[in-house]
Amino acid sequence: MTRQHIPGLPTDQICPQSGLPTVQVSPQGWRDNRTTAERGYGNRWRKARATYLRSHPLCVMCRPRLEPATVVDHIKPHKGDQVLFWDTANWQSLCKLHHDSWKKRFELTGIKPGCDSDGIPIDPGHHWK
Ligand SMILES: [Zn+2]
Repeated sequence: MTRQHIPGLPTDQICPQSGLPTVQVSPQGWRDNRTTAERGYGNRWRKARATYLRSHPLCVMCRPRLEPATVVDHIKPHKGDQVLFWDTANWQSLCKLHHDSWKKRFELTGIKPGCDSDGIPIDPGHHWK
């Protein structure tokens, strides 16, 4: 995309970084002050997650102990890949303890895996946030 001059466009609608007009986007940028849930995306995940936890109620890492799972985790990091994200074959139920141990892994690797107990990704750089 190249710079283009749009006559009459207020300067506050020119992105200071790219110099490109932001006519498609509100002056506040891409964020529209709605939460992920309000956009329907988070809500879909919440429901899918609850359904999954109902049919997979136990932590897969606690076996043979039977610890109730509270978190649905993506086995392979989906990195925004929708197919991988919604593929239940890539999901696993984890208890709080095991989920938290994934957070410890983050401290070692610098990558935050998984989601918090609400099913929202932990990583602040995640595309949901
Ligand atoms: Zn566990």
